[in-house]
This record gives sequence, structure tokens and C-alpha cells, in this order.
Amino acid sequence: MQKLEQLYEGKAKKVFKTDDPKLYIVDYKDDATAFNGEKKGTIASKGVVNNKMSAIIFKQLEERGVPTHLVKLLSDRETLVKAVRILPLEVIIRNVAAGSFSQRYGVEEGTELAKTVLEFSYKNDALGDPLINDDHILALRLATQEQLDTVRKYAFMVNDFLKEFFLKSDLRLIDFKIEFGECDGEIILADEISPDTCRLWDVHTGEKMDKDRFRRDLGNVEETYREVLKRVEEHQ
Ligand code: UDP
Repeated sequence: MQKLEQLYEGKAKKVFKTDDPKLYIVDYKDDATAFNGEKKGTIASKGVVNNKMSAIIFKQLEERGVPTHLVKLLSDRETLVKAVRILPLEVIIRNVAAGSFSQRYGVEEGTELAKTVLEFSYKNDALGDPLINDDHILALRLATQEQLDTVRKYAFMVNDFLKEFFLKSDLRLIDFKIEFGECDGEIILADEISPDTCRLWDVHTGEKMDKDRFRRDLGNVEETYREVLKRVEEHQ
């Protein structure tokens, strides 16, 4: 499959057209950003880790009934995916309080939540990805009620799978962000699932094994990304 014209370049990935209009190639970069692009850097080999890890996870999600954009891993940094229109929503699932949730509601990081929380953010860099609810989404025509119901159902299926999947690698899934796309009228999981988009804490030491090492200058960023991929590959 040949990479044709570049369609889009985001903060962490480039997307290319192919000779099949229904398929794109995603190329993962080592660039890292945080705080709505205010903090910039590179994490050596991050693109390889995120590409491989996403492919492993998406394949297993497919087998468990969550449709995804994954077609095939092509190389260390490239994956062939179905062309979708991304819904302008960040879907966040929280099992444990951390990050913006802890700040907004004044809850200590690490507090176990009485109920799993699903949150939506409006994907809009200019507005700083504001938190929105179902009514906002419908009022702004960002998705239909039927699409929201599907997104919600798949998001919880992804959480149930991921919690167990990461636990096999001695990683505790604190929270994560996923994105969905529309393809031939169907909602499918798109984007990536990686240490960039999940908070993962070591089960034994509580050590942060995710992008917070970059966001918060905790050191050993590259090593941690590589360690997460190593564990996941060993225990998949
Ligand atoms: N997240 C993400 N991209 C974003 C915002 C959040 O992948 O643009 C992930 C983040 O890594 C974490 C979860 O979503 O696993 C919840 O993030 P939170 O809202 O706490 O925001 P943060 O503290 O990262 O700003």
C-alpha cells in the first residue's frame, strides 16, 4: 500500500491518503505536546511505542466486539486504517481521580471513584477542549443521540477490556481518552490507545508509567514508554 498525499498533520501523528479512498496510513511521530500545545518536546521512540501498542489493543478490541479503524500494522511507525470522519469529541473514562478531574473537583489524585465516570470534551484547540455534556453535544449538532448511545456503550466496553488487559502487565488503568469516527454510517473506534492517552500506574510501586512523566517533568520518559510496550508485548 503506497503513501500518497499528506492529508493532515496533528500533534503526534500524520495521516496520508492511499490509492484506496477508503483507507489511510497513519504515521506516528515522536513529538510530544501538553497543556493544549504550550509545552513541546520529543520522546525518542514514542511513535513506535504508540503505533505498536495501539495495534495490539485495537486488534483485541475488534475480537471482543468493538469495531475499530485498524486494518493492519505496516511498519514500526505506520498503520493502515479505515478512513473515517472523526467526531469532534474526546471521550474520557475515569476509574480513579487524577489530572483535571482532581483539580476541578478538589479530589486527591488516586482517590477511587464510587462510580466510573464518562466525560466528553469538545475537540476544539482554540477553545481549549472544553468539558461538555450530552445536551451540549446535541444542541451543537456534534453527534446524534443514537451516535452518543453507541459511543457510550463502546467506551465502557473499552474500559472493561483495558482494565484487565493492563493489569496483566502490572499496570493500573486510572483514566484514558478515546476518539470515535464515522465510517459508512457506523461509529467505530479511531485514533490511538497508548501511554499518551491513558494514565497507567505501576500496581506495586504506584509509579506513573504514562505521559504525566513528560507533562510533570518526572524523568525517565523514553524508558517508561519502552517499558510499557515491553510489558504489554510480553503479556498480551
Ligand atoms: N487525555 C488525552 N488527550 C487530551 C486530554 C486528555 O489523551 O487532550 C487523556 C489523559 O492522558 C488522561 C485522560 O485523558 O489519561 C484524562 O485527562 P485529564 O482530563 O485529566 O486531562 P489532563 O490532566 O491530562 O490535562
